[in-house]
Amino acid sequence: MLFTGTMPGVEGHVGYLAGRYRNGALSDVWTDVSRCAERTFTAWAAGCSCGWYGPLQPLTTVGQYGARRQWAGEHLPEVIATAADAAVTPAAG
Ligand SMILES: [Zn+2]
Repeated sequence: MLFTGTMPGVEGHVGYLAGRYRNGALSDVWTDVSRCAERTFTAWAAGCSCGWYGPLQPLTTVGQYGARRQWAGEHLPEVIATAADAAVTPAAG
């Protein structure tokens, strides 16, 4: 399940819903967690194609939305801030 709604400056960052397997590993961007068997996962977490993972969320619909919020509300702003630091914008005028 990919998180869409990317904005300029965050190209290369594709968010997705990751599931935490029973051995503690997190699923990757290629795993469609909605197609996995029930009880495959013990928690949700937001993942990003850059390798970032958010904190674990409860294995509920609310947890899914929480994971998405963390990617869009915490990870992307960090990415944008880092990009803004890297790209020195000439002052207008
Ligand atoms: Zn990322």
